[in-house]
Amino acid sequence: MKVEALLYERLPDGAVRCGACQRRCLIEQGEEGWCKTRRNEDGTLHSLIYGEVSSISVNPIEKKPVFHFHPGSRWLSLGSVGCNFRCPGCQNWEISHWTRGVMATKYLSPDDCVGAAKNSGCIGLSWTFNEPTLWLEYTLDAAKAAKRAGLYTNYVTNGSITGEALAAIAPFLDVFRVDIKGFSDATYERIGHIAETPGILETVSQAKSHGMHVEVVTNIIPRFNDSESELQGIATWIRENLGPETPWHLTQFYPHLQLAHLPPTPIAQLEAARTIGTEAGLWYVYLGNVPGHPWENTYCHSCGELLIERWVFDILANRVNDGSCPACGERIPGTFEGG
Ligand code: SF4
Repeated sequence: MKVEALLYERLPDGAVRCGACQRRCLIEQGEEGWCKTRRNEDGTLHSLIYGEVSSISVNPIEKKPVFHFHPGSRWLSLGSVGCNFRCPGCQNWEISHWTRGVMATKYLSPDDCVGAAKNSGCIGLSWTFNEPTLWLEYTLDAAKAAKRAGLYTNYVTNGSITGEALAAIAPFLDVFRVDIKGFSDATYERIGHIAETPGILETVSQAKSHGMHVEVVTNIIPRFNDSESELQGIATWIRENLGPETPWHLTQFYPHLQLAHLPPTPIAQLEAARTIGTEAGLWYVYLGNVPGHPWENTYCHSCGELLIERWVFDILANRVNDGSCPACGERIPGTFEGG
């Protein structure tokens, strides 16, 4: 469905400047923005993907991955088409690399989403699969409907969001699961085709300031973002700007798409990256895409007690007691049932 965009500036000669993501595209009349999901029609900017759902499924929150917000809960996950990045190893490229033509989507109103979430025993709505900022107008309406119905909300995002877009949705967004893909403009340029590291880090800080629960993911891609200095930079930045309690997920890269020639991230390299994170002062550094690895689990940051045992996205045991460690009584950062 087509709706007028929420954030844009009208410029002379009928051009507009989009204010949804950090590309801030200048769009001439009759043209589309970089993501192709927004078009300038006679000086009015439209979103073309309001309510256009390409993928919908019920998942545990661990799949985002988010480990410190109602572990084991079910979420209705939705995605549309398009992206403001063009990651060469994207796992969802069929929808995120969409640029125009047949959309293969189905319209779902905000109230339909809420009803579907409730009917399937979900505690929240999660916008994922493609960059949620692209359908800001829709996710905002759906987030408001979710809040009215007592549901939680989650963005799984690359962090390229303008301050004004984040401020618009922040009052209705609980969980911000954000990628920090690198710590240099050169890495962001190679991975996302946008050299905007400071802007993305600023967005992550703002999400924290808005009071959202923030968890960070870095997919470690061999020869792209796996240098010690880059990982140290990310870890130190997280500790200094988000706090040592912020979960950092280091996920294994799988060869895919334009990066099919690269090897998967070696387990030993993931473990070394985890050490970089803990030595930088982070309390909760997880490894992902490595089924059965002990660093999938949650251990108390104070006494080391095993708190939550996982197998990929499943919780095998959860010993967090009223939000605290059962061994030493330390409060565990996050939101847990009963605490
Ligand atoms: S959402 Fe981003 S990429 Fe798309 S038109 Fe707006 S500024 Fe450009």
